[in-house]
Amino acid sequence: MKRSLGLYLHIPFCIQKCLYCDFCSFPKATEASMTSYAKELCRRLERAAGRCEEYRVDTVYFGGGTPTLLPLSAMESILDCIRTRYDLAPDAEITCECNPASADGEKLSALRRMGINRLSLGLQSVHDSELALLGRAHDYGEFLATFGQAREAGFENISVDLMYGIPDQTLESFRASLRTVAALSPEHISAYGLKVEEGTPFFRMADRLVLPDEDTEFKMYEAMTDILGEYGYAKYEISNFAKAGRESRHNLRYWRREPYLGFGVAAHSCFEGERFGNSRDLDAFLRGEDITAERERLDDIDERDEYLFLGLRLASGIDLADYRRRFGAFFREVYPQADALLAAGYLKTDGERIAFTDKGFFVSNTILAELMAQNERKFSKNC
Ligand code: SF4
Repeated sequence: MKRSLGLYLHIPFCIQKCLYCDFCSFPKATEASMTSYAKELCRRLERAAGRCEEYRVDTVYFGGGTPTLLPLSAMESILDCIRTRYDLAPDAEITCECNPASADGEKLSALRRMGINRLSLGLQSVHDSELALLGRAHDYGEFLATFGQAREAGFENISVDLMYGIPDQTLESFRASLRTVAALSPEHISAYGLKVEEGTPFFRMADRLVLPDEDTEFKMYEAMTDILGEYGYAKYEISNFAKAGRESRHNLRYWRREPYLGFGVAAHSCFEGERFGNSRDLDAFLRGEDITAERERLDDIDERDEYLFLGLRLASGIDLADYRRRFGAFFREVYPQADALLAAGYLKTDGERIAFTDKGFFVSNTILAELMAQNERKFSKNC
């Protein structure tokens, strides 16, 4: 039986750059340059296909950037290339990210006809004042129109992105965003905390931004679980909520350490025991050069760290018996601090699995860094 594989296609073009964005994306690209980019993506997809004969592709993800900015002919050529060169499962999940200002009903219908069956809409907030502050290219009205057009076009699997920790956002305004979006009944909702990243306009204006304090942010995080729970969404990952059976199959493969190949600038891959990632050098990509910027084979410590880091992102957490089978040691022997974290209510266990509580999820980066440092100290001592 063939192994399952995911394909990620990075489309690095946007209408304008949001003020907080540090993703690899370039504003105001011409149609000609987007078409050249798609051609180069196809060339690279074709080249890699020979290594994937033992695999069946069951998830494809167009991320960005704003993939819905691509001319339809360019999108079609990429999908054709995947269909002809790869073994694409008939029931593959094919997701396309979409900025509400980038697609009208006609375009969405064409994308649906091409076989894209999941749309991920970047909204962030239902309040126009918050959208303007973030530098988004759309208002809430445009989002609503796009959402309706996507349903009319036949998209039965839609995800909506929200954001908390926005400057001037209050607990009440975030609650309103959650309720308003949940009432629309998309199949999936993601909500990420805003991080002010170096190199972004937000970073340069940091002293003028009024960000919610940590206590308010934690209440926002709790509100997310409570309110979305009321509307029938289950949290299955630190920032992701879905109706039953509507979890993102593509994103689950990242957290479950299943193979995927990424194409395009800044795309990452995990394939045959290696992780590798591309640089952001668009010109070198378009010239057909190798833009691999990092490549690593995971050693034992990395494997443990990765298993911990990715497994604990999931609400279902880590299967303790599976941990023991893989690494030949009890989880709580390798991470003795787990006992204190359980007692303090950051972790929870039913004896079979160990997982973060909401309180733990909120400070998960700090906790994971400490657990991983412990793992390194422990195993370097044994060498
Ligand atoms: S739409 Fe997304 S990728 Fe594009 S600039 Fe905004 S946050 Fe960045």
